[in-house]
Amino acid sequence: MEIEIATIGGYEEVGRQMTAVRAGDDIVVFDMGLNLSKVLIHDDVRTEQMHSLDLIDMGAIPDDRVMSDLQGDVKAIVPTHGHLDHIGAISKLAHRYDAPIVAAPFTIELVKDEIQDENKFNTENDLVTMEAGETMPIGDSGELDLEFVNVTHSIIDAINPVLHTPEGAVVYGLDKRMDHTPVIGDPIDMDRFREIGREGEGVLCYIEDCTNANKKGRTPSESVARDRLKDVMYSLEDYDGGIVATTFSSHIARVKSLVEFARDIGRKPILLGRSMEKYSGAASRMDGVDFPDVEMYGRRQGIERTFQRIMNEGKGNFLPVVTGHQGEPRAMLTRMGRAETPYELDEGDKVIFSATVIPEPTNEGQRYQSENLLGMQGARIYDDVHVSGHLSREGHYQMLQALQPQNVIPAHQNMKGFSGYVELAGNQGYKLGRDLHVTTNGNVIQLVEE
Ligand SMILES: [Zn+2]
Repeated sequence: MEIEIATIGGYEEVGRQMTAVRAGDDIVVFDMGLNLSKVLIHDDVRTEQMHSLDLIDMGAIPDDRVMSDLQGDVKAIVPTHGHLDHIGAISKLAHRYDAPIVAAPFTIELVKDEIQDENKFNTENDLVTMEAGETMPIGDSGELDLEFVNVTHSIIDAINPVLHTPEGAVVYGLDKRMDHTPVIGDPIDMDRFREIGREGEGVLCYIEDCTNANKKGRTPSESVARDRLKDVMYSLEDYDGGIVATTFSSHIARVKSLVEFARDIGRKPILLGRSMEKYSGAASRMDGVDFPDVEMYGRRQGIERTFQRIMNEGKGNFLPVVTGHQGEPRAMLTRMGRAETPYELDEGDKVIFSATVIPEPTNEGQRYQSENLLGMQGARIYDDVHVSGHLSREGHYQMLQALQPQNVIPAHQNMKGFSGYVELAGNQGYKLGRDLHVTTNGNVIQLVEE
């Protein structure tokens, strides 16, 4: 069976991920993401009203015109998890394909939000939920199966999809870290990866998340981030002034830890900001997700009223968990820094950033500005109380050992970002141009000829 991989987006950047695998007459698309930094750079862009081609020209969404080079029909669109760089272009591109969107439950919930917020296009693709550990047949040949393997990442319900073909498995490895003690959900299913590496024809191709390929060692578990956060928050138990925390709104496990430790030190946690309400709201609606019951407000009026209440009842009784961990100009924490909210920071108040700055000039500049504004109000900053959601080098090594893939394709980075992975794979016997395929956006790699 002829097998081709189209590297559509996310091979020159971290963002706008999209990859298609053609096996015979059937095609499966993995991810349809947005490159948020290309959007945020323009002050006035409203993506929900924009046409796909304009967004492609901006570099904001994948240029899927390369799909016309693939001789087959798309049978499924499979987002791996709910981060915008993996689902943010579904509302702009999915309607062009007559195929269902297949994803894990929390991801489907967030895809629904994306589709609802869209003003320009109607996405009518069927939404199909599949859990980690499950498999479904793809296409009419009877020879293809799609399997979801449970992985661990900075959002719940992340999976790695595997397309089983007669030529071997294609394993799409975005995004994950190797977490054996995640705060929510099951550990990464390494046993299953090892099985896939050894059963049948083995692994034909592995596409790897290279976000942290240039980082040595191992990415710690979420339980390590939880311990660090606990250490910071317990150390503030006697402080009776204001404490404010921020993190990635989609990082449900981290928000859960913030809520729990706030209560431990005698404060009432309240989630504030549109995206806080969106992600935590979705998590609290899900069956089987161990998310605490907590107050949250997403609309301006509710937020202002809550800040008033906090000021009236005493800042020492509350822990507002707000948006703005990257210093986004319109986010809640940045507005607090500019003294634009009723919440007044006093000399000595604490601000906890349970996030790192995404290493990108726009973010770095905005975060610098935000921290300075907060500092000018007297705030003490607790920075980088966080661990990454992506594998570092030893995790990449372990994945190669588990899967023993015949071909590897580094993804989710640019050329510079791939370099650490090329070195690692080279040391494991892979050869550039033979079975180690470093590529850019818009290419087709033929793995098996007819
Ligand atoms: Zn991700």
